[in-house]
Amino acid sequence: MKEIKIKKPIKIRKPTRSYTGIMWITNGTNKKYLAPDFDNRCAYCDDSDEYSGGYNSFHVEHFAPKEKFKHLEFTYDNLLYSCSYCNISKSNKWIGSNENESVLGNKGFIDPCNDDYYNHLGRDQNGNIISLTPLGEYIYYELKLYLKRHFILYNLDQINIRRRALKAKIKEKEEHGEDTRKLVKVHRLVCEIFCDYYDLLVKEEA
Ligand SMILES: [Zn+2]
Repeated sequence: MKEIKIKKPIKIRKPTRSYTGIMWITNGTNKKYLAPDFDNRCAYCDDSDEYSGGYNSFHVEHFAPKEKFKHLEFTYDNLLYSCSYCNISKSNKWIGSNENESVLGNKGFIDPCNDDYYNHLGRDQNGNIISLTPLGEYIYYELKLYLKRHFILYNLDQINIRRRALKAKIKEKEEHGEDTRKLVKVHRLVCEIFCDYYDLLVKEEA
């Protein structure tokens, strides 16, 4: 059996809904509150909207589908900020016979605001999303979490964190009149890697 080393959780941070129990009756208003609650990241795959079409391309996802549970269409506790890929893949899939029955056996979905989500999905050392359990495998395939774009966007994000930190360090050294040549070289290299991943993303979307 192939050994998988888990290095990281699927998401940088577990999101929390700040407006539990509240209902705004437009998705536009809900989305304004969902974006910061979810750190401008897809609830399921953690893609940042920064390199992925921005706020306008992200969707308001209904955990329990609104086609089956009309009364939950604007219930904040049922809503998620989601990339179009996960939202469209999930569509109106729902295994249970009522709104509270999101899992039956090894099939179904878990709300990523729930701790249990992180027991079923993770990331390997390269940033690929991996399933950890049979239920995780169901979610992985149903949401198409195997798409290459998720791996590319994760790495773009990680490289960008390093790029920004290096830039800040160079600025700090410059202010103290220190030699920055080595750091500038590393920064240039990191920028080149960033561009390589960006090209990959553009190719993937073409
Ligand atoms: Zn997503």
